[in-house]
Formats: sequence, C-alpha cells, structure tokens
Amino acid sequence: MQRTIFTEEHQMFRDSVRHFVEKEIVPYYDQWEKDGIVSRDLWLKAGQQGFLGFNVPEEYGGAGVDDYCYSAIFAEETTRVGAVSAGSGIGLHNDIVIPYILAYANEEQKRRWLPGMCRGELITAIAMTEPNTGSDLAAVRTTAERRGDEYILNGQKTFITNGILSDVVIVVAKTDPTLGHKGISLLIVERGMEGFKRGRNLEKVGMKAQDTAELSFEDARVPVSNLLGEEGKGFYYLMRQLARERLNVAVGATAACEAALDMTLEYCKERTAFGQKIGSFQNSRFKLAEMKTEIEIGRVFVDRCIEELNAGTLTPEVAAMAKWWTTDLQKRVVDQCVQLYGGYGYMLEYPIARAYLDARVQSIYAGTNEIMKEIIGRSMGV
Ligand SMILES: Cc1cc2nc3c(=O)[nH]c(=O)nc-3n(C[C@H](O)[C@H](O)[C@H](O)COP(=O)(O)OP(=O)(O)OC[C@H]3O[C@@H](n4cnc5c(N)ncnc54)[C@H](O)[C@@H]3O)c2cc1C
Repeated sequence: MQRTIFTEEHQMFRDSVRHFVEKEIVPYYDQWEKDGIVSRDLWLKAGQQGFLGFNVPEEYGGAGVDDYCYSAIFAEETTRVGAVSAGSGIGLHNDIVIPYILAYANEEQKRRWLPGMCRGELITAIAMTEPNTGSDLAAVRTTAERRGDEYILNGQKTFITNGILSDVVIVVAKTDPTLGHKGISLLIVERGMEGFKRGRNLEKVGMKAQDTAELSFEDARVPVSNLLGEEGKGFYYLMRQLARERLNVAVGATAACEAALDMTLEYCKERTAFGQKIGSFQNSRFKLAEMKTEIEIGRVFVDRCIEELNAGTLTPEVAAMAKWWTTDLQKRVVDQCVQLYGGYGYMLEYPIARAYLDARVQSIYAGTNEIMKEIIGRSMGV
C-alpha cells in the first residue's frame, strides 16, 4: 500500500539520510559492533548534516521543524541496513531526551545545552532504571537531597543507553522519598561532575554497537540550576513523554520487519532445494504472504500514529498498542525469516542473524510489553 504521510521534502531528506548511512555508518558498523560502541565522530557528522535536533528551534541551533516524520525516516534508514544500534542511540537523543529539554528546561538551560546537542558535541541519555526497579518507576531509590544551592545525589542506574558516551544525563531521583511518585524530580547530571561514575559497558545479546551502561552517584553534587522543570513533577513529566518513546520503538520494529522480509524474499528467490527455489514451496510462500500481510497492517497503524503524534493527539494507550503489537510481530517475523534461511540464518555474518539478536530487546525496553497491556487495559476501565 502507498504510504501517505510523506511529502517530496521528506523524500529528499530520506535520500540524504540514505547517503549518510551508506557513507558514514555502513563501512564502520562491524568495528563498532566489536567495540560495543559507536565513535563520537558519528555524532559530530550527524550534527553537521542536521540530523540531530530536528525539532529544536533555530535560535538554539536546531532545524526548527516539529515534524516526527524526519525522525521516523532516520530510524527507517538506519534499520534498513541493519545498523539498528547506531540509529537507536541517536533516536534516543532526538526523540526522547531533547523533547524533555524543549518541554521543561528554562531559557538558560536551553541555551546551555541545546546547541551542543544539535552539533553532536553533547550526547545525551536518560537514566530511569535501577538494579532493583525498572517497570515500577515510582519505586526508584536514587535520592537527591537539597543542601543550599546543590542537590546531593546518591544511587545507581543500570541499562542506560548511551551510558558511556553521554555528556548530559537526565536522572530520575527522589527529592522527597516520603511522597512516592509525587517526590520524583528530574536532574541533569553532566560529564565530570564530582561523584558521578560510570560502570561497565554491558555485554548484550544484540544491539552490539550500542553502549549500554551502569551509572552511579556517590554524593554527586548537582547544582540546583540543573533541576529540570519543577521539583516533584518528574513522574508526571515522564508519563507525558513516554508515548513518543514507545512510538519510536514501533517505528523501528516495523522498519525491521520490512528489512527482514525484503532480504528473506531475495534469499528465497535464489536458494534452491530439491531442484526448486525454496520460495516456491507452498509453506515458504504462505509464510512470506502471512508476514507481508501483517507487516502491511502494522505499517498502516504506525503511520497513523505518526500523524497523531504530529497532531498532538497520540494517547499513551494507542502508543502502547503500537509498541507491543509491532515488537511482537518483529520477533515472529525475524524468527520465521531465520527459519527460511536454514543454517545460514544462524550465522552472524548474515544480517538476518543479527536482526534476530537485535529484535529480542524490543519487547523489553521502553516499558515491557506486559506493561503496555496494563496501560491499555487500565484505559478500558479494567
Ligand atoms: C538494551 C537496553 C537499553 C535500555 N535503555 C534504557 C535507558 O536508556 N534508560 C533507562 O532508564 N532504562 C533503559 N533500559 C531498561 C528498560 O527500560 C527496563 O529493562 C524495562 O523497563 C524493564 O524493567 P526491568 O528490567 O527492571 O524488569 P522488571 O520490571 O523487573 O520486570 C521483569 C518482568 O516482570 C514483568 N512485570 C513487571 N511488572 C509487571 C506488572 N505490573 N504486570 C505484569 N508483568 C510485570 C515485566 O513485564 C518483565 O517481564 C534498557 C534496557 C535494555 C535491555
């Protein structure tokens, strides 16, 4: 089916992203996967090309275009070539962290951080999850105690995307532990602050080029001027922004399904068994047809969500639907594609094998798929 959300301008943008990905990501990606991290150069080059902070107003160094289609295109093009873990760090920066700064930072903070974020000089992260709590965000134990014009931050975070590279981290902490979720605030911790330490770059099943790390705060001193928004409003801010994060995952999942199906279709047209192309077995044809159908259905829903996000009407429950359904689909699709590749599907030199490993996390992060169903269920009054 024809996609209707893109204009000619979007198409031109897609061409430039495709060129960038081929030139600046594909040749280095194997090495980054071995290193467990992308180079800082990638960020600087992405900044130079205008691929960071699309929605940041020009006065703060961005493109000033509040249109999620640009983010979706960037995610689709990195996923198309299997460079998911390079794209996802940038996606988190553009679509998760920067929107918090735009929505809740004061003028001085915007001027301090946004230009560097748009140039790729300031890489960002958001630290919610802790060793003892992920889904239950209100149970975070990191504390920020105010002393004069500083907060004294203590606690540990884990599984933090861009954890090693990040220069600016939004940290979820309790400024008043007696108030439960109403005592949560967001603090900006910067590279080099006293008491801020990074732990290991964690070894993962997939997403190998993505640095995912532990962070710790031992009497870290954070100036009060680094509080984001109002004290005690952190949980409310998080709930408001999470729909966009979930749509991001759904966009990546749908693009990953399309990429997996494309490469598998080609393979099925070439590989022979019992004197015929493997795609011509009825089972293969049916599997391919089923996948094509489900992916098309998912694509229409996700594109509609993109329109709703742009219109400001995307609800948390609809974003949750997109997230759980497309990521479950992605896991099914890549698994079936691996099956159609036979033994080669299990070899890491084949992109489908890497797509299989990269897919697994999709139903876990950005809120697990079980939590997505909780959100949808609660919205139905049950
Ligand atoms: C690669 C990667 C990158 C990540 N990046 C970040 C990041 O940048 N920043 C960040 O803050 N976090 C990040 N995370 C953390 C991620 O968001 C959490 O892992 C996720 O929210 C789940 O939390 P948890 O691991 O503590 O699992 P738990 O909350 O312990 O859940 C364990 C299981 O119990 C289920 N469960 C929990 N509560 C319920 C319930 N109420 N009903 C039904 N089932 C339930 C879950 O669905 C899950 O299956 C990342 C994780 C990974 C793997």
